[in-house]
Amino acid sequence: MEQPQSIHSVLRHYWGFDSFRPMQEQIIRSIMDGHDTLALMPTGGGKSLTYQVPAMAQEGVCIVVTPLIALMKDQVDNLRRRNISAVAIHSGLTPRQIDIALDNCVYGDVKFLYIAPERLGTEIFRLRVQRMKVSLLAVDEAHCISQWGYDFRPSYLRIAEIRTLIPSTPILALTASATKVVEEDIIDKLAMAEPAILRSSFARSNLSYSVRDVEDKNEQLMRIISNVPGSGIVYVRTREGAEKITAWLQQQGESADYYHGGLPNAERSLRQDDWTEGRTRIMVATNAFGMGIDKADVRFVVHYTMCDSLESYYQEAGRAGRDGRRSYAVLLTSSNDEQRVVKRFESEFPPLDEIKSIYEKVCNYVQVAIGDGLQSSFVFNIHDFAAREHIFIGKVQSALKILQQNGYLTLTEELENPARIIFCVSRDDLYKIRVERNDLDHFLRIILRMYNGVFTEFRAIDEREIAIMSGYTLDHVKELLKRLWQMRVIRYIPSNRSPMLFFNEERLPTEDIYIAPESYRLRKEMMHERFSKMLEYAAEQEQCRSQMLSAYFGDTEAKECGICDICIARRKSSKGVVVEEDLQAQILAKLSEQALSVRDLIAEFRCDPQPILDTLKEMHEKGIIQTNNDGLMTPKG
Ligand code: ADP
Ligand code: MG
Repeated sequence: MEQPQSIHSVLRHYWGFDSFRPMQEQIIRSIMDGHDTLALMPTGGGKSLTYQVPAMAQEGVCIVVTPLIALMKDQVDNLRRRNISAVAIHSGLTPRQIDIALDNCVYGDVKFLYIAPERLGTEIFRLRVQRMKVSLLAVDEAHCISQWGYDFRPSYLRIAEIRTLIPSTPILALTASATKVVEEDIIDKLAMAEPAILRSSFARSNLSYSVRDVEDKNEQLMRIISNVPGSGIVYVRTREGAEKITAWLQQQGESADYYHGGLPNAERSLRQDDWTEGRTRIMVATNAFGMGIDKADVRFVVHYTMCDSLESYYQEAGRAGRDGRRSYAVLLTSSNDEQRVVKRFESEFPPLDEIKSIYEKVCNYVQVAIGDGLQSSFVFNIHDFAAREHIFIGKVQSALKILQQNGYLTLTEELENPARIIFCVSRDDLYKIRVERNDLDHFLRIILRMYNGVFTEFRAIDEREIAIMSGYTLDHVKELLKRLWQMRVIRYIPSNRSPMLFFNEERLPTEDIYIAPESYRLRKEMMHERFSKMLEYAAEQEQCRSQMLSAYFGDTEAKECGICDICIARRKSSKGVVVEEDLQAQILAKLSEQALSVRDLIAEFRCDPQPILDTLKEMHEKGIIQTNNDGLMTPKG
């Protein structure tokens, strides 16, 4: 058993924090007592520390399954900065790099092994994991294991298999978004034994949610911008929308800029920096703007268009007010929003035949022949693909999602890709070249030694590694690769940034692609179901918005926030009492001047007669006024 001291000293020593956030300590204790644990905590709640602290307090390596490679890299960098040894394994690495990383987990002193789910099934990982001393298996974004969740990834189902290889290791499942059904599914699919379920609150006490149903969204947006000081984000659905609204805001003299996935990478980080450091006040963005936003004093997040789920809404809106000061999350709606989105759903949801045809086109695009491609990854620029094939990008995304859910492939988010090469001459021709070109011989020999298989398929290469092995400088290596490319000896793709496509299975003949009808129907139904919750939220008139959101995430005990539009409206209407007190005073004042009939009195006020009648009745009952013999009212006493 761990001493109670030690997790606090780990927290202080490595992270420099004095205390745990709500729920962190309970989660850590549960996992250190060896219980399988499911922890539900909102984004930003501090989930990472709940596996990092116990891992540092114990011997062995902690395996972390997480789907987003960029976040994985972030975490690894973050740990390394604290002098903690961590590695990541994902589809962007060369097999050689993966090999080295896994070796370090078996023989070295690695404390954290981050792994992308689609890598769990690979033989190389399964063999090594059995030789590791694993302290803890942490599953981040655990909702991905459930097809009822909003981001189902079949490769998560492999986690249960990994558990059988390390049977005595406890598992910690983490998520910011699990409805009751998803929660049960996580427990079931991860084979969790009598799990402890720990949930922290999803309420954000300083965030005021509201919905404005308006004719003119621009006007409303302007009103918010002028009423709320400080910086903010305006979320829109499309890239064009982001550009248009930005132009309009700039015309109005506002400091605004836009951000979306179509901008070059360098441009994106420039814009993000300008906004983070306060040189731009308002960022108008698509949902590509999200990861790594580290700005505490965001005062408002306006949604100009609806999200397709409350999960995304909660997450995007939640970027306001991280510093704990009052902030505003406003959703703008107008009458035809619903119809438009429903229509878009229909047009984006591809028929089965079309999914198969997209599969075929994608395989051709990345040049994978039937029977090939098993467990290989390819650079895949979805925008380029969609443009070249003239298919609407939303449709390509849907088709890939469905193919992914059926286990054929995995599309990763955009990431840094290694350079790739393939030889386009035969071994014999290459031999001739090496004899003729003495200056290239050494270099070619190194490449052949380092990367076998490079004749048959594109292989990821590491230019730095080649530099070390060959004794050349990095620049010289790149130079030589270019020269070989110009000589048409190799095809060479320099390192770049793009999403990757990973083939879980070899390419099948298109007619053999089987899309389970349930999974197809389910996805469609779930999209509708989730969106209808979003619509319910937008249309809600009665329930506190913060309560609604908490309930959506399974917390039915949440209190009213008191600051959302609905709570405020309710308070105003219950202020009616105060208004009626005013009314009493005014009535009394008039009746003191002269006795009046009910009708004359009502005429004096020129407003809705009902509150006056109610008040009069009350004043009678309390004996404040009386009716004289002429039927006129006068103050009593
Ligand atoms: P989540 O994964 O739940 O979205 P993270 O683990 O990324 O959240 O943590 C969010 C932020 O909160 C990080 O910057 C982290 O350093 C900080 N944080 C977490 N726990 C604590 C703590 N006990 N004290 C201070 N800061 C913390
Ligand atoms: Mg996290």
